Amino acid sequence: MFGPSELAFCLLAISGVVSASNNSASQFDPCSYAAADVLVRDVIVIGGGASGTYGAIALKDAGRSVAVVEKQGNFGGHVNTYNDAATGLALEYGVQGYSNDSITRAFFERFNVPFIPLFAGVAQLVEDFNIGKNVTPVTGNSILTWSNFTNAYYPDPALGVHLPSPVPEDLLLPFRDFIKKYHIEDAAFLIWSISGPTDNLLDQLTLYVVLGANAASAPIPGGAPYIPEVATRNNSEVYGKAQVELGKSALLNSQVVASQRSNKSVKLVVQSGSSKKLLIASQVLYSAPIILDNLNTFDLDSREHDIFKEVYYTAWYTTLVTDTGLAPGYSYENAANNTLYNIPIEPYTFHIGPSRINTTFYAFYGATHATSEADVRAAITQNIRTLSGNTSSPKILAFASHTPFKQLVSADAIRAGFYDKLNALQGYRGMFYTGNALDVSGSSSLYNFTQHLVPGIQKAVAANKVPADAGKCKRGW
Ligand SMILES: Cc1cc2nc3c(=O)[nH]c(=O)nc-3n(C[C@H](O)[C@H](O)[C@H](O)COP(=O)(O)OP(=O)(O)OC[C@H]3O[C@@H](n4cnc5c(N)ncnc54)[C@H](O)[C@@H]3O)c2cc1C
Repeated sequence: MFGPSELAFCLLAISGVVSASNNSASQFDPCSYAAADVLVRDVIVIGGGASGTYGAIALKDAGRSVAVVEKQGNFGGHVNTYNDAATGLALEYGVQGYSNDSITRAFFERFNVPFIPLFAGVAQLVEDFNIGKNVTPVTGNSILTWSNFTNAYYPDPALGVHLPSPVPEDLLLPFRDFIKKYHIEDAAFLIWSISGPTDNLLDQLTLYVVLGANAASAPIPGGAPYIPEVATRNNSEVYGKAQVELGKSALLNSQVVASQRSNKSVKLVVQSGSSKKLLIASQVLYSAPIILDNLNTFDLDSREHDIFKEVYYTAWYTTLVTDTGLAPGYSYENAANNTLYNIPIEPYTFHIGPSRINTTFYAFYGATHATSEADVRAAITQNIRTLSGNTSSPKILAFASHTPFKQLVSADAIRAGFYDKLNALQGYRGMFYTGNALDVSGSSSLYNFTQHLVPGIQKAVAANKVPADAGKCKRGW
């Protein structure tokens, strides 16, 4: 059975009135959809990971109507939880822990998800994963010099990335040159072990090393007062509960395929499973990676396009592995036996950590470029065999890709004001931005950053209310 809107659309099509361009315009017309497939909200959130889920719930709690468009089949983003049938335990092989700050606590308390101390393992072994040999990298006091430096440029994760103008050349030095200039050789390995995978550490711009290993968000000596990390019994729980609370406003397996945007309102056509929906809103809170592959369906203008086209990304993969032969409960850090400062060269398995089952471990693998699943599995398997001395292969229980992970731009782009331009997009043509590219140091930092955006989003919604009947088909018969 056709509804009036589909019938009108078909009649226009049959009569040849709908040309290619009219056809694309009609996709923003509520008359082209069944009423149930048109959603009107104050804010549409793109991405249901750490920052998107936090943002959706914070805006809902502030009295705004929201819907979330999530590409995957569930909320959680970089969280991966494996439910072990035999023990009933939740084993984390993605995000492990959180900062115990007030914003993070309030978010978990809201969903009645208690914290437990983060289990970091019985002890840590530092070994060359390629040869299975213990390595002792140099460590010393120059980490304090590094702490002070990071505090000058990234003092508060809630504020994101704001750089002086002109951008200090120290931030644009390859980190190998910065290390030499400031004589912090004895801090290099520790800084590497705190950073997540991006480009090879010594080739990275110093800015990105600051954002990956800073005193404001990591337990670096000489940094901000140390906030103990915490975990939950199941890191997927909070995201699952948020998803359930949003009900039909959580659009899973969904992506934006076309948009019409102005400062006053935004219309998004969303492919949601096998159907299309029209979402009409005052504002969008965008939390997915800011790469053109994701954003080119968002009706970008040249100002936006010129900013996002600069972004490239690095890769991170995770596995949960059992039958490893590794020391039960231990964590393993990779250190190269024969490289400068013992820093391994990507691609690599960089960390193997314990789970709540003594013999099962998560293994993190980083690369400068996307890598095939088969190559990642083979490398992790080989590294574990080398470390354990086992001739049998470990069993990979689960695999996940977290690619794109870090979003980076070149020194020239940063010099030309990339971060000022990115920050200036907040609220431009109905879009606000959060997520890993805007604030880079973990889930808790992003909860804080996203919370910081909420007043601006509220103001924009109040100034640009979408009429209640915006989703109604108004074509007369
Ligand atoms: C393996 C791993 C372990 C980590 N461990 C920790 C940790 O222990 N503690 C910590 O604080 N931080 C940790 N981090 C970092 C932390 O997870 C990130 O800082 C945080 O998850 C980033 O949140 P986000 O919202 O930017 O991205 P995500 O959480 O990835 O959310 C983005 C969401 O957008 C969705 N999406 C992508 N493209 C589209 C699209 N086109 N349309 C719609 N949706 C889309 C994705 O599916 C995803 O759900 C870890 C990261 C990784 C990869």
